[in-house]
Amino acid sequence: MELKRWQEENNGADLYCVIGDPISQSKSPLMHNQAFQELGLNAVYGAFQVKDNELADFMQKVREYGIAGLNVTIPHKLNVMGFLDEIDQDAQELGAVNTIVNRDGKLIGYNTDGIGYVRSLKEEAIESLDGKHIVVIGAGGAARGIIHALLKEKPDRILIVNRSIDRAEQLAASLKHNGAIAVHPSEELQKVCNDADVVINTTSVGMYPNEEEQPAQGEWLKAGAVASDLIYNPLYTRFVLDAEQHGCLKHGGLGMFIYQGAYAFEYWTGRQAPVDVMRKAVLQALT
Ligand code: NAP
Repeated sequence: MELKRWQEENNGADLYCVIGDPISQSKSPLMHNQAFQELGLNAVYGAFQVKDNELADFMQKVREYGIAGLNVTIPHKLNVMGFLDEIDQDAQELGAVNTIVNRDGKLIGYNTDGIGYVRSLKEEAIESLDGKHIVVIGAGGAARGIIHALLKEKPDRILIVNRSIDRAEQLAASLKHNGAIAVHPSEELQKVCNDADVVINTTSVGMYPNEEEQPAQGEWLKAGAVASDLIYNPLYTRFVLDAEQHGCLKHGGLGMFIYQGAYAFEYWTGRQAPVDVMRKAVLQALT
């Protein structure tokens, strides 16, 4: 739908939306509208497909129509930064924005992906990451966000293993001032998984419809370690289920999605996000 018509139809309500391309599969509208309803807020959340060449025009309309807040997804997390008045330091360091708050006409960018992941990991799988040995499989945009947030938790070290080693090296070089990071070639994945406390898959290997694929074998992890995956479709990948069979704790990607949304909700409204309601809404849509 066109933004102007949507604004007219919801006149009087605070307006929020997610932009991306593609966007039709996004569960964010469902999650946030349920949360607004739960807290009795007069607010509406929509989804807009915005192509690269439409971004400037859309952001101009955001200002014109007083849109209260946005989520930003692929492919705009980087380019949208050029249309904001202020960018939070973490988002600046990361070079990506996924949440925008309109504070009295001033557009401020944040990134809640990494902190959302860490909140989920600590609430669902491991209380503290202090002194822990973490292996991250993959070196894409999601890996970047979570490694940045993980380093704040003072782990002993983070080892990155990626199919393309150059990409892993670039990522490690850009974050190494924040803590101990090293890169290992793919052939050493089994060896490095062996004494890790947490192994995190940030690649798309194992995602629907290729659920039978695994980035690592469960038996490579020591018993008691956490096997974590950013993928939430399926809710638990073959990698984490296999690791669970070998005595590990499993952690799926749904929590990251919920908590990145919860942080955004809290930045926008100043109210505590009804996380359980949000999770239930998304779970219902996924299962
Ligand atoms: P991305 O920037 O495209 O990075 C993809 C990563 O996966 C790269 O490291 C890539 O390696 C690796 N990869 C892809 N196919 C592979 C294969 N067949 N074998 C080995 N490695 C492979 O994507 P992204 O944005 O980081 O997203 C990655 C995953 O995280 C996706 O599954 C996405 O759904 C998930 N995610 C979840 C949430 C959440 O809220 N739970 C949020 C964001 C992303 P190369 O560098 O060698 O290409």
